[in-house]
Amino acid sequence: MKFENSLAFARTLDKSDPLKNFRKLFYIPKVKVDGKKQEAIYLCGNSLGLQPKSVEGHLKVELNDWKKLGVEGHLHGKNPWFYYHHFFSKSVSKLVGAKATEVVVMNQLTVNLNLLLISFYRPAGKRKKILVQANEFPSDYYAIEQQIKLHGLNPEECIVEVTPRKNEVTLRTEDIIAKIEEHKEELALVMFSAVNYYTGQLFEIEKIAHVCCKHKITFGVDLAHAIGNVELKLHDWNIDFATWCSYKYLNSGPGGVSGVFVHEYHAKNFELPRLAGWWGNNEETRFTMPKHFVPQPGAAGWQISNAPVLSMAAHKASLEIFDKAGMKALRKKSELLTGYLEWLLLDQEQKNKSPKEYRVITPKSKNERGCQLSIQTGKNGKQLFQKLTKAGVIADWREPDVIRVAPVPLYNTFENVFRFAQILRK
Ligand SMILES: *Cc1c(COP(=O)(O)O)cnc(C)c1O
Repeated sequence: MKFENSLAFARTLDKSDPLKNFRKLFYIPKVKVDGKKQEAIYLCGNSLGLQPKSVEGHLKVELNDWKKLGVEGHLHGKNPWFYYHHFFSKSVSKLVGAKATEVVVMNQLTVNLNLLLISFYRPAGKRKKILVQANEFPSDYYAIEQQIKLHGLNPEECIVEVTPRKNEVTLRTEDIIAKIEEHKEELALVMFSAVNYYTGQLFEIEKIAHVCCKHKITFGVDLAHAIGNVELKLHDWNIDFATWCSYKYLNSGPGGVSGVFVHEYHAKNFELPRLAGWWGNNEETRFTMPKHFVPQPGAAGWQISNAPVLSMAAHKASLEIFDKAGMKALRKKSELLTGYLEWLLLDQEQKNKSPKEYRVITPKSKNERGCQLSIQTGKNGKQLFQKLTKAGVIADWREPDVIRVAPVPLYNTFENVFRFAQILRK
């Protein structure tokens, strides 16, 4: 598509957007600009997604059942709490490209990562190492380091990092693969975020999975910045396990419940060590309180505690919206929306070069990114960011010099993106 740098053009794109009505399903935060209250240009859905208006209704159902039924709500509520995690299987499996039995909604992301590492990081013999990307999200890195220590091993010797080439910021697939090949005899696990939180780079997960499979290396994926953002096919790609959070692109509220994927291949491998609790036990005997743990097959067998229904109710409300919109349509709009933003940020008078004040470090190819663009600023970056905030933009700042902006296809408009680019240029 040939873009134009004008408000009228942005509005034409909004008019012909098949998903345009979804914005109305969300509360858009208001900010004061020059003393006047107005809708914020919200580009922070990669950090905390906006609240669907339907959340309150879903919460009220559970609050009412609790009020009127007390403990009876477990079996006789409108959405019986005993079975609450079942209500997500279909929607979530569609989002990650899995079978219903391969996913379960539970806990928080880093908690789940730790649980999965207990099962899937099994250092033995020469194979003790874990391969990660050099600028992995700190929480994941901490979990990995401590899991290595749990095995009495030394993280310094057991973590292999893939780093960008000199003068590059993002990773090349060929370098990731070469690193795996180099350490193939010593790797117990490759653990990768599918989308890097800082650069916004989307990795070629399928290709990495293929190499891991070839060398019988377990492959785990963190989908924090990928779920609800890009299309995923975890089952077909032969990913061993994955986890994610729901408060970023999935709009399920601060600290919202996480989920996990465990490939069918491991569904009945009850020999895998795991941490256990009654919710992972066979459902039929759960309340007969058997003395010994009999895990359910599939991802559900990794559950430990009973479902946090209030936080899950928000998740349920949000997933209904994803079911209606569909990832295919969302991704299509997202590519156009982010593509337009990227184009607007380039200096069109200077033959589409980056202006000298900033540059986009996210890969240019739509196959290598989701909706986020990371804008690397010069030395006055922090000031620039503060000016953006004053002008009504909600984005986020990452030390030392990056502004992350994520136009989310569910509720951001082409006009949002146009206005943001205008403000940035000014
Ligand atoms: C957001 C994010 C987290 C956050 O972890 P919580 O356990 O939800 O607090 C962890 N890892 C990655 C890669 C993230 O992007």
